[in-house]
Amino acid sequence: MSGRTLPAACPERTCVGCRQRAAKSELLRVVMREGACVPDHRGTLPGRGAYVHPALACLDLAVRRRAFTRAFKAPAAPDTAALRRFVEQQAAP
Ligand SMILES: [Zn+2]
Repeated sequence: MSGRTLPAACPERTCVGCRQRAAKSELLRVVMREGACVPDHRGTLPGRGAYVHPALACLDLAVRRRAFTRAFKAPAAPDTAALRRFVEQQAAP
């Protein structure tokens, strides 16, 4: 980490999909509501959050790795349909 300066105002988070660290602002915060993953694009929803790149590749990786189940300590894999729709809309031109 020599020579690498990070301003304190730019916190990093790890994407639960590709496991790469990125600036919080580049990642989509996700919270769990009633057994489903909900995109929290404004970062205002309460509760435990997970961070993922707003990209289908990372979302698929996270689902395959059960990363959301682990991140939210959920008893079962949360529903990601709404989150997927959101990411698809973000990815659309
Ligand atoms: Zn990622």
